[in-house]
Amino acid sequence: GVVLGRRVGSRRKWKRVVRVLKELEEACETPVGRLRQVVDAMAVEMHAGLASEGGSKLKMLLTFVDHLPTGSEIGTYYALDLGGTNFRVLRIQLGGRRSSILSQDVERQPIPQHLMTSTSEDLFDFIASTLKQFVEKEESGSEPSPVRTRELGFTFSFPVKQSSLCSGILIKWTKGFAIEDMVGKEVVKLLEAALVRSGLDMRVALLVNDTVGTLALGRYHDADTVAAVIIGTGTNACYLERADAIIKCQGLLTTSGYMVVNMEWGNFWSSHLPRTSYDIDLDSESPNPNDQGFEKMISGMYLGDIVRRVILRISLESDIFGPVSSRLSIPFILPTPLLAAMHEDDSPELKEVAKILKETLEISEVPLKVRKLVVRICDVVTCRAARLAAAGIVGILKKIGRDGSGGITGGRNRSDVKMKRTVVAIEGGLYTSYTMFREYLHEALNEILGDVAHHVSLQVTEDGSGIGGALLAASYSSYSVDGVN
Ligand code: BGC
Ligand code: MG
Repeated sequence: GVVLGRRVGSRRKWKRVVRVLKELEEACETPVGRLRQVVDAMAVEMHAGLASEGGSKLKMLLTFVDHLPTGSEIGTYYALDLGGTNFRVLRIQLGGRRSSILSQDVERQPIPQHLMTSTSEDLFDFIASTLKQFVEKEESGSEPSPVRTRELGFTFSFPVKQSSLCSGILIKWTKGFAIEDMVGKEVVKLLEAALVRSGLDMRVALLVNDTVGTLALGRYHDADTVAAVIIGTGTNACYLERADAIIKCQGLLTTSGYMVVNMEWGNFWSSHLPRTSYDIDLDSESPNPNDQGFEKMISGMYLGDIVRRVILRISLESDIFGPVSSRLSIPFILPTPLLAAMHEDDSPELKEVAKILKETLEISEVPLKVRKLVVRICDVVTCRAARLAAAGIVGILKKIGRDGSGGITGGRNRSDVKMKRTVVAIEGGLYTSYTMFREYLHEALNEILGDVAHHVSLQVTEDGSGIGGALLAASYSSYSVDGVN
């Protein structure tokens, strides 16, 4: 009797688990019809954000970048890339006409956690001293010391309202940064002050978003590059827009007739997005509620935490994970690389899943069936993220008439439309290091675009955000010298 009773009991619990999973699957569904709605909403919001200040949750920020590197850049330039989890300093030497980057040195450092919520002085002093050490090391070799002031491209991967190529104020923090005294401040001034304090002679030539750096490097390699996307700790995109389409700045003068627009798509929102109760809780418990809604469904900072929340719920409603682990209540305890490792565990026993459950979540000895369930949860969450990112990309293509929907000829038949080759530069760990994510993204692009997908290619630009910043510094400094590009 007792044995039978327990069996029935656990069967009933398993039923409950299956129900929770089913609910999750249904809430996360992204059939191609829904993705098309997201595509349309993205294009509509882009228009709205360009039409007026505050016209959309998409800020569509001006970058003042009106020409992109061509390959003729020459000289030695530095870059500083401050963004998500890491911070990079680098130096590139450019050989000019047709030769590519001659040499490139990069140094990566994790940003100490306490600096992300400290003061701007602490943060920038740390950055300036790291930069100074790097410069001294780079220049200590056989090369003569530079005769002119060193020039720096500053890649700063947060929303900035720019007033020129090398000035702008921080609108808000994202990705867990929270240095209150910096919001509303001139970002470059803070860096310059720290450079002075450290005694490093260097001029900040330019301030760019990481997406803009990525676009610049993409363009340097391939002249058909028109947009750039980052899917890493955070997510965002930028693209080349016609200056006359930026209605909110009427009479905007650019030398090329174009300007790069930083969309800040992480803040995109639409009622067509497939939202779950886990997303709602994650948002309300985050340091930036009601903000960065798209980012919270897609980027590396959040995916692991969505999975954690699902496992917690199941653990509370059943005993399949054993006693409820207190680890499950710790926000962000499951970083996305571990989610990827569980998702891509191809051992028959799911050893990696068992290991991560044990070491990170302190859940041990769960049967194979339960480990499979965990893999399924990872799959659902990642698949939704990748497919939404794909819809975002197509939204941009639609806005610039490269989605083959016949905006130009009016033809309804996709094959009627002569399609230009279109390259989107892409960066960030989710795309570059998480195979399943990348595959789901490509699959969705193909589903949405059909044959048109043959004309669209995604190109990875490694370290593009930083190198691109240096390239732009180079591009603008030669531009100002000889007046042509
Ligand atoms: C920031 C963007 C940035 C993106 C990728 C987002 O959280 O708001 O400015 O481009 O992350 O790093
Ligand atoms: Mg980055």
